[in-house]
Amino acid sequence: MTKLQYNFSKGLRSFAALVRNEGATLYAVGGMVRNILLELPISDIDICSSLRPEKIIEMCRRNGLRVIPKGLDYGTVEIHWGSERFEHTTFRSDSYAMNGEHRPTSVNFSECLEDDAFRRDFSINAIYADVLSGELSDPTGGLADLEHGILRTASKDPHCVLREDALRIMRLIRFAGELGFDIEPETFNAARELAEGLSNISYERIAAELNKLLLCDVKYGIRSADRVFHGLELFERVGALDIIIPELARGRGLKQKPSHHRYDALYHGLHTAAETCPTLIMRLAGLLHDVGKPYAYERGGNMHDHNLIGENISREILHRLRYDNKTLDEVAFIVRNHMYDLNNTAKDSTLRVRFVIWGYERALEIAEIREADVHGSGIIRDRVKAADRWRRLLEQMVEDETPFSVNELRCTGSNICQWLKIPASPAVGRIKFCLLKHCARFPSDNNPEKLRILAKNFAPKLCENSSPMNNN
Ligand code: ATP
Ligand code: MG
Repeated sequence: MTKLQYNFSKGLRSFAALVRNEGATLYAVGGMVRNILLELPISDIDICSSLRPEKIIEMCRRNGLRVIPKGLDYGTVEIHWGSERFEHTTFRSDSYAMNGEHRPTSVNFSECLEDDAFRRDFSINAIYADVLSGELSDPTGGLADLEHGILRTASKDPHCVLREDALRIMRLIRFAGELGFDIEPETFNAARELAEGLSNISYERIAAELNKLLLCDVKYGIRSADRVFHGLELFERVGALDIIIPELARGRGLKQKPSHHRYDALYHGLHTAAETCPTLIMRLAGLLHDVGKPYAYERGGNMHDHNLIGENISREILHRLRYDNKTLDEVAFIVRNHMYDLNNTAKDSTLRVRFVIWGYERALEIAEIREADVHGSGIIRDRVKAADRWRRLLEQMVEDETPFSVNELRCTGSNICQWLKIPASPAVGRIKFCLLKHCARFPSDNNPEKLRILAKNFAPKLCENSSPMNNN
């Protein structure tokens, strides 16, 4: 019998002793055991035993432990031991409607570890470690799969496992990305045949998995474009992308200039997402930045305005997937502006004004997407001149104390009213905005004396009705 060489925490061992007093054995399972074996950090402590949830609750209360019944129907109870938190799930076997819906139609608690193992998703997630002795139980062959870096369904029939709960298809892809594992061929084929079942999963659950997939390299702190691309390519190859983001699938086979692009529009999006820095906004923007291309092409036989078309489509996609408005706006902004000054010919003064209108963070994001876009073309790996230049310029603007918003101007609205002897009105906002654009180019003018003179110069034009505000 293989033993796990690992010191479980004192709290967990004490809890295991309580379970033993009730005549049962406490096991660690799931990601906890998998990651200990892979020498990766653990995200949560999944434990299990044959004890029923009511028994666990009663036992915890008797011993003064805080206990939260989390999903009693599913046998899950959250236990707090000091600062530690464990999630205990009673051994069970489940029945499903077989239409891919995530929730089982019935849950049967069991005395038997094997039953529990075969209701789990993948073999590497169904390895059990006796918390007190360290002995491992591996009814589904997870240890061998772990050694070979393979994802395989826990039970022998992958069709059955993935048909029961289609969310497992997203988990499969996500684990492949996070761990850099391959998918065993029968499991892969079953996922491809059953991907349509994902349409029975709520958008919230899908988006939560998609987020984890997009950030799969971050989970274990290894920044790796290869890992992210590996996951995203599986997302496409399994057919999940067609179900979840069919708009992107339209870029499949859409050829681009071979001098600039090695991939079709779809693969270019996957590569670009993988190349961006590890934030959800940038990864989503990378994925979606060219989503408008097939639409532009179908409309006019060229890619004109694909960024504007793409902005609208991105909004629709993210709205459908229930992303919050902030995420939606930020991603849409990047998609809209990812083509800005494509030839890198804008003058510094033009860029300075543009960056101030966008704001510092957003300007950095445009530099970031430019770099990822170029690297994601599969042709150029060198540094991207425009992105480097923009970042340098942004640094310089911070150094010379360029104001990045009207709030950073060294005058207030009431100063302007006083100087110009005008009442508070929209004209004051317009004057502020002109002062900001001026200071973007001449940051040393951001002082009250100079601003007063400038405001007086701007006033005659701006106190009329026309609005110079242009925030796009
Ligand atoms: P991590 O916590 O690192 O994301 P994990 O494998 O622990 O990975 P959890 O979501 O915490 O994932 O689930 C714990 C365990 O519960 C899994 O390892 C797996 O055995 C089982 N499990 C979770 N979701 C499912 C599912 N949809 N179908 C079958 N088993 C599942
Ligand atoms: Mg876990």
